[in-house]
Amino acid sequence: DTCKYTGIVEDCCCDYESVDDVNGAVLHILLQELVATPFFRYFKVKLWCDCPFWPDDGMCRLSDCGVCECPEHEFPESFKTPSLHILPKDDPVCQEGKPEATVDRTLDDKSFRGWVEIDNPWTHDDETDNGEMTYVNLQLNPERHTGYTGPLARRIWDAIYSENCPRYAFGEVCPEKKILYKLISGLHSSISIHIAADYLLDETTNQWGPNLELMHDRVLAHPDRVQNLYFTFLFVLRAVTKAAAYLDQAEYDSGNHAEDLKAQSLIRQLVHNPKLQAACALPFDEAKMWQGQGGPILRQQIQNQFRNISALVDCVGCEKCRLWGKLQVLGLGTALKILFAVDDQGNPDPHLQLQRNEGIALINLLNRLSESLIYVTKMGSSVSSANEPS
Ligand code: FAD
Repeated sequence: DTCKYTGIVEDCCCDYESVDDVNGAVLHILLQELVATPFFRYFKVKLWCDCPFWPDDGMCRLSDCGVCECPEHEFPESFKTPSLHILPKDDPVCQEGKPEATVDRTLDDKSFRGWVEIDNPWTHDDETDNGEMTYVNLQLNPERHTGYTGPLARRIWDAIYSENCPRYAFGEVCPEKKILYKLISGLHSSISIHIAADYLLDETTNQWGPNLELMHDRVLAHPDRVQNLYFTFLFVLRAVTKAAAYLDQAEYDSGNHAEDLKAQSLIRQLVHNPKLQAACALPFDEAKMWQGQGGPILRQQIQNQFRNISALVDCVGCEKCRLWGKLQVLGLGTALKILFAVDDQGNPDPHLQLQRNEGIALINLLNRLSESLIYVTKMGSSVSSANEPS
């Protein structure tokens, strides 16, 4: 459990040591600062979505499970809806019976130069429909232990794995056939790591802290789960660097000029980082994917599976888990869109367009994964020393 992984991360182009070095030395620090800026800390999310698969959804045990929403005056003025239009009922799952659902068609393109209002084909949610969405301050709602557990939580992971991304056969060499499982497994590891890192150790005294045993049992004892975490991190990192020009030119306007300039500067430091270039210039090589004859069909199949996974997250019965689940799945969907977008003829699409919320999800996801790698190395050594005979 010392978590000293060596060699090249499977299906990626960088080795474990370089990833740890560059993450620990620069990326993690930049990302932590970035997600604290007003632009990146307010996430727009539809939390009240009905679960399309099971009529009941899980209740969660701890009061900490609830999400603290932002009061109107708190989130940036420029994020607010200037005018509302009634949405045609085009989403049978989430809109049904909710006439109050309205959509803001002007918010993104008016207030945010470089950000568009466009649906993400990789996710189930209609990202352009935002009438039911609320703003959540992510800094006030940390991803941590909530007490959401048992068969209801388990059935979601089971449905994700068994129906939508089954584990590939031992010896599988085709990276396309492994990618979805590895991305979800890496995300799952990261969620488990955040639960273990910030755990309610004693309910009576409300004492929070790391739960090393849980960390060991759920993640560190399974090298493939740690390896998949590295894979997912590199995949998302590649998406961020591939979108460098877009992210560089986008407008970060939350109404707080000094903080917005800071966000812009941090983004530039992140996407054009010389240390990252030196350590791991190409974290993942998407150009090698979908080359064979069956490539386009496989790509479409994976896109459909990912959309199902994104719909399953609406069945997460704990609000705070759902918040982070939706954010991170949108972040992954955005990374997939950046790396695998194709035009009508199936050729790589050079015209990337992102929604503001996609940018926020992408950067916050990268931060979560980066933080998880830090925990793995730090808590991995605590676990191993705790296990050493005295
Ligand atoms: P689970 O984590 O539920 O895992 C189920 C099974 O999946 C395991 O038995 C194993 O066979 C397999 N598995 C586990 N990890 C991996 C992996 N990395 N790769 C491949 N297979 C794996 N709880 C919170 O307290 N806070 C949260 O923020 C939170 N967010 C969640 C978000 C989502 C989208 C979901 C579905 C659940 C979330 N939960 C959260 C619940 C949490 O993930 C666990 O389900 C819960 O803690 C019960 O854990 P478990 O030990 O039963 O194993």
